[in-house]
Amino acid sequence: MAVGDMKKEGQSLAEKQPIIAFKDVSKVYEDNGTVVLKNINFELEEGKFYTLLGASGSGKSTILNIIAGLLDASSGDVYLDGKRINDVPTNKRDVHTVFQSYALFPHMNVFDNVAFALNLQKVDKAEIETRVKKALKMVRLEGYEKRSIQKLSGGQRQRVAIARAIINRPRVVLLDEPLSALDLKLRTEMQYELRELQQDLGITFVFVTHDQEEALAMSDWIFVMNEGEIVQSGTPVDIYDEPINHFVATFIGESNILPGVMIEDYLVEFNGKRFEAVDGGMKPNEPIEVVIRPEDLRITLPEEGKLQVKVDTQLFRGVHYEIIAYDELGNEWMIHSTRKAIVGEVIGLDFEPEDIHIMRLNETEEEFDARIEEYVEVEEPEEGLINAIEEERDEENL
Ligand code: ADP
Repeated sequence: MAVGDMKKEGQSLAEKQPIIAFKDVSKVYEDNGTVVLKNINFELEEGKFYTLLGASGSGKSTILNIIAGLLDASSGDVYLDGKRINDVPTNKRDVHTVFQSYALFPHMNVFDNVAFALNLQKVDKAEIETRVKKALKMVRLEGYEKRSIQKLSGGQRQRVAIARAIINRPRVVLLDEPLSALDLKLRTEMQYELRELQQDLGITFVFVTHDQEEALAMSDWIFVMNEGEIVQSGTPVDIYDEPINHFVATFIGESNILPGVMIEDYLVEFNGKRFEAVDGGMKPNEPIEVVIRPEDLRITLPEEGKLQVKVDTQLFRGVHYEIIAYDELGNEWMIHSTRKAIVGEVIGLDFEPEDIHIMRLNETEEEFDARIEEYVEVEEPEEGLINAIEEERDEENL
């Protein structure tokens, strides 16, 4: 989907009746006057994977807790399936939360943990058996029914928690940093599994994380949060390619951000030079900021580059070298390259007009969406952002 297809109002993907909607939702702790959420609006479409991404304290869990009914909104309306649910108690909402701490019953085995809600509902024994087996199969824990919770690894416990969340097929599963206690390898595996599981089930997932790579890899749609506000929302590719401002650009991956001037449509000046660009819709000579991603810079011979920089440091990062270099004005440049550079060497940097992302100062999300729709074509790769970046790197290697 191109950025131009984004909905202007309500920040949403939703075409049909949204499964969850927030209308002007705020949260203030009256006793100390702390404003935790400021006028949040969104509509979530059924069957999609949504992520709330932001630093600790930005209000992500507060949103989840308001959806779950564990916290009340101070003002505004919350809808589930078109019905206002502000006053509906937690246990009457068809949502299930998976927490970072697994909240399992340690004295029960895997089967009893997963079957807990069904036992409470006095579901028929044979049906419980079938449904628990099916849920455990979905989280790849077949044969673990009798295993004690204490004899499971962190990843396995998290899978039990997820099996318990999906056993009743809720309309919405809320996941509050469910993978953050796991080590990196297991976390990456679980990211793939969770994403697959969500697609198989077709249940709406709302996932909370502070890890931008996790958000980019897993989500259909991301809400980037800062200090109780949604600062940008869109597909992972939209947000990575066209960050709305400095905060989002630095939060979503490594960036080179430089001050510049938009001379006219499709012509930008930075580093004292003028470059062809793909953005427009600004005033002539409007001050802006330029973002160029480290992986979009290609190393060339000095005379063949659009810019010349001197290599200061180089680190091998496994997939690529991370090179820090300085131009003659003293600006720092980060370059990700599969080619090795030599510290102290002057190199050229090349990039395409579409690699230059322009950010206006203080642009609202509505103004941003309208401008991007009119001026910038963002093509969404079929297989998601991570693969697209890897493919591009492979091409460079040929
Ligand atoms: P996140 O999930 O993004 O880390 P939270 O939604 O948990 O953030 O918290 C948002 C903000 O709300 C934090 O700054 C936190 O300190 C504040 N907060 C949470 N509970 C209370 C409370 N009872 N009184 C005042 N502030 C609170």
